[in-house]
Amino acid sequence: MPAPLIDITDAWKIYRVGDVEIPAVRGVSLSIRAGEFLAITGASGSGKSTFLHLIGCLGRLTRGSYAFEGRATTALSGQQLAGLRNQRIGFVFQNFNLMARTTVLDNVALPLAYQGVPRRERRRRAEELLTELDLQDRLKHHPNQLSGGQQQRVAIARALITRPAVILADEPTGNLDSRTGTEIMSLFTKLHREENITIIVVTHEAEVKACAERHVVFRDGEIISDEERTATAA
Ligand code: ADP
Ligand code: MG
Repeated sequence: MPAPLIDITDAWKIYRVGDVEIPAVRGVSLSIRAGEFLAITGASGSGKSTFLHLIGCLGRLTRGSYAFEGRATTALSGQQLAGLRNQRIGFVFQNFNLMARTTVLDNVALPLAYQGVPRRERRRRAEELLTELDLQDRLKHHPNQLSGGQQQRVAIARALITRPAVILADEPTGNLDSRTGTEIMSLFTKLHREENITIIVVTHEAEVKACAERHVVFRDGEIISDEERTATAA
């Protein structure tokens, strides 16, 4: 058996604000295999985003252990973590988080710049990927010239351009109308089925949840349920 893609044991994240300690994630253990499509749900404030940040190495565990592809992340320097994020992890956010003054093409090409890929090559790869996502007519546009669904597809292209092992998406359909949200989830489902990309999506929408094959529920910083299921939608 290969090591799990993600192996988290007794993870805690305690924020400190002044004298107040906020335990946002409280002793969570979770193991995720390559190729899984997992949905995380739970009430607002239950620690979902904090946990996704930990998985994405955007924040460090206060306590506990986290191995990514068999490597203990707690032993890595900030620079090594940044490299891991850039090469192995793609992020998709509710607010798209695209750079406003940058074209669609350059938004998608940028992660390759951190890998030292020459400009012509990164633009070629970005154009190819944007064409697959049916955005070939929008390469020179700026994000504010696109619809919400198009912006999210650009964000997905940016997440995919480095061919990551996992896509982490935090309420990716939260700012979209339901039809556009369904299109975005169909795209995730397709990536999962055809490219075997691991997808972890935080959501509170039943429709989004229905695309996933495993459901994890958070309450007050803890996992209260973890179930395998058959995907029914998209
Ligand atoms: P969810 O995504 O499930 O809504 P969050 O992970 O955003 O939950 O938040 C979990 C808890 O941690 C909440 O009580 C929230 O107020 C707190 N929290 C989140 N981010 C921070 C932060 N940067 N500093 C302090 N407290 C935070
Ligand atoms: Mg959140």
